[in-house]
Amino acid sequence: MQKQPDVVAGVDMGATHIRFCLQREDGTVLHCEKQRTADVIAPGVVQGVAALINDQLRRFQVRCRGLVMGFPALVGKDKRTIISTPNLPLQASALCGLADRLEAALSCPVEFSRDVNLQLSFDVVQQHLQQQQVLAAYLGTGMGFAIWLNGAPWTGAHGVAGELGHIPQGEMSLRCGCGNAGCLETVCSGIALKQWYEQRPRDYAMGDIFTAARDEPFVQHLLAHAARAIATSVNLFDPDAVILGGGVMDMPDFPRDALIAQIKQHLRRPLPYDAVRFIAASSSSFNGAQGAAALARRQFMSSPSVAPAPAVHG
Ligand SMILES: [Zn+2]
Repeated sequence: MQKQPDVVAGVDMGATHIRFCLQREDGTVLHCEKQRTADVIAPGVVQGVAALINDQLRRFQVRCRGLVMGFPALVGKDKRTIISTPNLPLQASALCGLADRLEAALSCPVEFSRDVNLQLSFDVVQQHLQQQQVLAAYLGTGMGFAIWLNGAPWTGAHGVAGELGHIPQGEMSLRCGCGNAGCLETVCSGIALKQWYEQRPRDYAMGDIFTAARDEPFVQHLLAHAARAIATSVNLFDPDAVILGGGVMDMPDFPRDALIAQIKQHLRRPLPYDAVRFIAASSSSFNGAQGAAALARRQFMSSPSVAPAPAVHG
């Protein structure tokens, strides 16, 4: 009997959609798909996710060497424990022993990751930055932030490093979703931007804020907060490159160059000011799943290589 070719699986589990990707050993994409999270997990997380993956393994006649699965959640240092999932429709009981149960259902090793680290891994591979020190700021619903050091996402002593959105540089009279007062995300996040937009009727759509209301004090303050926080991280870490992306930065007319200029105002000179590079994140909706698969190749295959930019839709 012929030996089945090996692949790895990446799953990016969001509140609304689950995105799933199979990659071959050379990093090329065998399969990508998107499903509604509620539909997939209706029979249970393990049964649903295992069926999603096993169906495609059978269809392509391939064998899975490992799965990396990302969550919008804090994931423990052991990469098997999900500490909190405020944004996912999951019962605590569904998370108990989840890694063990998935491994049994898939017959391959499983690791969990924070979703922002999946996006970082995707961007690092796309930009060929694996050997460099990289920071990434993804200004979306929250102020996503991630750190790439020594060839992998850097997760700190407990797995929760990189919470730039929760440094105490916001509005002290406002409570953050994390429970603390004054986090950066109270004034610098998609949530804060939406709350400001909804304070009164506007004659433009939310998506046109940076076209119609860029000079509004709240919007200018949001950008200044983002610049100061990102500059702080650059002065702390002295990275080769900073990746900038996320849903807010992807909005039409987002003033990317002005943001970079503001960040640079606060950088130490001559270094890192003269040397640090700012790179735009790519914004395919499958980045997270592909970043998960890239981490799985690194973890479960011997020689992960760089894939060409994939053409996927969704
Ligand atoms: Zn917070």
